[in-house]
Parts: sequence; C-alpha cells; structure tokens
Amino acid sequence: MNYTKEQEEKFKKLGINSISELALSVPSSYEDFRIHDTLKLHMPQVIDATVESVHRAPNSIQITFFAHNFGYRIQGVLFRPKPYMMHQFKAGERDYFYGLIDCKGGVCSMSMPKKVIKTGAIYPKYKSSLRSDVMNRFIEKNLNAENLKAEGLKDEIVTELLKPHFPRDEYLQSKELDTKILHALKYTELFCYMKLLAGKRRYFKPLISKEGHYSQWAKSLPFKLTDEQISTIEDIKKDFAKEVAAKRMVVGDVGSGKTMVILASALMMMPERSILMAPTTILANQLFEEALRFLPGIRCVLVSNKSKKIDLQEFDFIIGTHALLYRELPHAKLVMVDEQHRFGTQQRNLLEKLVSSGDKKPHFLQFSATPIPRTQAMIETAHIDVSLITTTPFKKNIASKVIHKSDFKELLEHIKDEIQKKHQVLLVYPLVEQSRLMEYQSIEEARGYWEKNFEGVYVTHGKDKEKEQVLLDFREKGTILIATTVVEVGISLPRLSTVVIVGAERLGLSTLHQLRGRVSRTGLQGYCYLYTNQTSSARLEQFVETFSGFDIANLDLKFRKSGDLLKGSNQSGSQFKWVDIAEDEEIVKSVKKDLNII
Ligand code: ADP
Ligand code: MG
Repeated sequence: MNYTKEQEEKFKKLGINSISELALSVPSSYEDFRIHDTLKLHMPQVIDATVESVHRAPNSIQITFFAHNFGYRIQGVLFRPKPYMMHQFKAGERDYFYGLIDCKGGVCSMSMPKKVIKTGAIYPKYKSSLRSDVMNRFIEKNLNAENLKAEGLKDEIVTELLKPHFPRDEYLQSKELDTKILHALKYTELFCYMKLLAGKRRYFKPLISKEGHYSQWAKSLPFKLTDEQISTIEDIKKDFAKEVAAKRMVVGDVGSGKTMVILASALMMMPERSILMAPTTILANQLFEEALRFLPGIRCVLVSNKSKKIDLQEFDFIIGTHALLYRELPHAKLVMVDEQHRFGTQQRNLLEKLVSSGDKKPHFLQFSATPIPRTQAMIETAHIDVSLITTTPFKKNIASKVIHKSDFKELLEHIKDEIQKKHQVLLVYPLVEQSRLMEYQSIEEARGYWEKNFEGVYVTHGKDKEKEQVLLDFREKGTILIATTVVEVGISLPRLSTVVIVGAERLGLSTLHQLRGRVSRTGLQGYCYLYTNQTSSARLEQFVETFSGFDIANLDLKFRKSGDLLKGSNQSGSQFKWVDIAEDEEIVKSVKKDLNII
C-alpha cells in the first residue's frame, strides 16, 4: 500500500504502520448523539432544547432548558465555566445540548451541558495520542472496507473489524466484545505483526549452495539420532541447497542433542569451512572435544583468549568463544552460534559480517536452549526459519518435588546418599544483595554450614572471575557445588544427580527448567528440589509435574496471565494486545497460511 503524507504522519503519531493496525485500537466508549424521545438515566444524551433563562453566579452558570424531544424542563448547571462556555447559552435560542441527566424529586438536571453541532449518530471515543476530533475524523476518512481489503485482509475479517468503530445499537447494548469481533482483532493483530516481520526479512545469496551428506556419518555414531535431530538436520540440508543464505534458529531443550546437529551441519558443509561461536571457554572446549571425537578427519581448531595466534586458514571447522570476533577470520561458508541467547544481537551480527563477502552471506544457524511456546515459534517463522527439538535422547528421570524447612533433615540424608554413590549435588542460592530483602540465606551465609559438614564443597557466582575454573575443578573433584543461577551455562556435569533451588518461587519457570536440566544429563536418576517458604504455590506444583521445556513455556505464559508473575523473568508474549499466545495457535496457523509463510 502507498500511503499519503497525511496518513504517514498520523501513523507515526499513533505508533502504527497501517490502516489495519488503526482498526485494532477499538473505542473505549461511545457518545450517543442521536435524539431519543425518552429520557435515559445514567447515560449522557442529546436534548433538542430552547434556552429559557441563564443565571450567572460567581462560580457557576444555571440554565433552564425546555427539552422538546420529551417535553420536560431541565436545569443545566455549569461549574467553574471556562470563558468560551459562557457564549454557548443564550436565552431564547434553540439548539442541541449534550450531557448526563439526573432526576430528583421531580426536578431533572443536566450537569455540564455541552452544545453539539452534529447529531443523529453515535460517536466512538478513542484513547489515542491524537486530539479526539482529529482521531475521529481520521478514522472516519480512512478506516473502511476498501482500505482494509487493499492491505490484504479477508472480507469476513473486515466486516467484523469495522463493527466497533461504526457501532449499531445491538453492539452498544452488549457489554462484552462479540467472539467474532475478538477473533477478527486477534487475526488482524497477528496479520499485521507477521506481515511486518516477513517484510523485514532480507534474503541474501549464499556464498555457496550445495548438497550435503550425513547418512553415512549418522550410521557410524555410537547411538541413533532421534527423529527430531534428523528432521532438523534435514531442514538444514535443504537450506544449504537453496539459492538463499540460510537463517535458521534451532530451539531445543537442554540435553536434546543440539551438538549433533551442529556437527552434522559442519560435516555437510565440507569441504567448505564452518565457524562456531559459543558463550564460554568451557562450552567452546566441550564442543571442540566433541567435534574431534565425532568428526574424525575434519581439521578442527579451538580459539579462545588464551590460544596462540595461529593461521586459521588451514582449518575446516573453527570453534571458539567471542574471542573469534577479535581475530582475523578466514571466510567461512557456514556460521553457527550456540546458546545464542547469551550473546547480544550485535555480537551475532558482527560474526556473520566478519565472514561475509560482498552481497553474499554465509549460511547462518543459531542454537538456543530457551524454550519458547510453539505458537511463538510459529510467529517467529515470519522472519527466521525455526526448527524445534522437543524430545531428549535419554528419557530423563528427574524426580521433582517442592520442599519446605521441615524436609531439611530428609534432604540431608538424600545428599549424603548421593555423595556416597559418587554423584554430585548442586545447591542454588540467592545472591548476597538479593537475600537481604528475603527470608532466605544467601550464598555467603550458607556456605559455612556446608563447608563444615562436607568435603569437596565448591562455591561460585556470576561475578566470580574464576567461575569457569571452579566449575572444571568441581566436575573432577567436587561433591557439592554452591552457586547462583550462573550454572545455567551449558557445561555438562555427568555425575550431577541432584539440584536444590533455594527460594524457588522467586525464579521464572524457564530458569527453573534450565537449572533442572543440569542433572541427569546422561540418564542418571535425577532429583530436583524446589525449596520454598511459601506454604503453597500452584506454579511450583505444576512445574514439578511438567517436563517438556515447551510445556513449561506454556505454563509460564499461563501464570503470567493470571498475574502470578515474578519480576526478572524474561520472556515474550507481552507484545500483543489481543492475541493470547497460549491459546491462539489456530489463528496463528490461519494467518501464516493467508500470508503464505511456510
Ligand atoms: P544440548 O541440546 O543441551 O546441547 P547436547 O548436544 O550436549 O545437548 O547432548 C546431551 C548429551 O546427549 C550429550 O552427552 C550427547 O552426546 C548425547 N546425545 C546426543 N544425541 C544423542 C542420541 N541421539 N542418542 C544418545 N545420546 C545422544
Ligand atoms: Mg548445547
């Protein structure tokens, strides 16, 4: 659509991009300027009246009207009248006046009567950043079926969409928004949002488009790839064969086996070079070791702050931390970012740019362990391709339980048992600064107890400069790790069987889920204890029953909606006024179909 200058200017003031979006701001109330022949209480209305007399007092004006439409005499009262109001009432003149009428003891009065020029219609009132008459005129002039259809909306949606703006009596009488209208609003909101996203997506030529192979390799692995690992690798295989540079996000729960997808992608790209960036040295190292193990014959190299400046030209697969961004990087045909949410957009873009050439771009794959609701993923597909891995290769066995102070003795027994079995335990505490405000011990307050009673206790937190080393030492020698939520980072601790989260109710469900995902990574019987002083929490109770990250994401949405939400928990979902991501999957589907988004 091409918009006029005036339209563009108003759009800007309203913070919208189209007429369809204009339709989304439904009126907050209505003014009925029709002339009725019966008196309506509790509702402002118009009278067709002759002004019989006007009395001025210091702070008010008293007017006597004779209302012809119902034949009553009505007292008008203006308190603290502004100067212009004075001139609206002249004895002997007949006009239309608007206001709320109230009757007591046979006397009817209208407070703050207002002279009206237009009558006979219902005028919507908008909460908007434009002056009300400007907004009303703008709507009247622009919001119509023709314009909405020109923006691609279907007839049946358009019909419903116009109803709140040009209301009929039935509409005004019903107190609730009709379900058909609500559906049209949701549809339109998604339509606008996804159309905008899709319009922002840029398609680049790839540095190479090729057919990749991985089946031989998959057969050589010590385990069978899961169906979703395979379908994700297939998605990527198809991406590589296209004349468009891939831009795909792979979202999979902790432990869903994303590394195998990364390795398969590097393999399919051979003999061309790939680059992989990870958020921490430990993780980069872990990925490097897995690459050496599962991709024999491929020349891999690890780049971190500490690694020497060697010529990277000779390598097929370069794995590193953000140290990569400060290196002279050879061109690569594939760029991957693991745990992408740990990087800023800028860092991700910079990496992609570093290895681009002219108007061509490398294929770009991002991997994330932050579960998003399926519906959200479908919406995102408007600007980035998404593959979901919802299952884990091992059936994870994590007994989850909400516990209280009275369970502490039992917890101690459990911890001793696990340590005896050479298993490890993670205790997650609030930070010092946070706990002052709360009823829980902080790391610093709690560590003494554990250090006194147990061997091999390690402590780390987010600001700890040595945290990577502490984690490595703990992995080899520790029994108990006391930490804050920093352990979120995807380091693998194969002997970790138990996680205890102190003050669990202060954390978002996705954070709890990430923490729980640390244990039982190799099929070990795991335990997750949510320690809380709250006597009951529906949110935590449902969490311990739910294991898929995608279901957790939906739960999070549900509780967010019901108001039981915690500060600091991240997450999407709030960008919509009408759409409910937890419930509107069908509408997302139909919008996707109508917009031709695959
Ligand atoms: P994440 O998705 O969190 O990155 P990883 O790739 O680290 O998960 O995988 C978790 C563990 O599962 C690793 O030890 C990995 O070797 C193993 N694994 C991956 N895929 C399979 C599979 N198909 N069958 C069995 N084990 C697998
Ligand atoms: Mg991983």
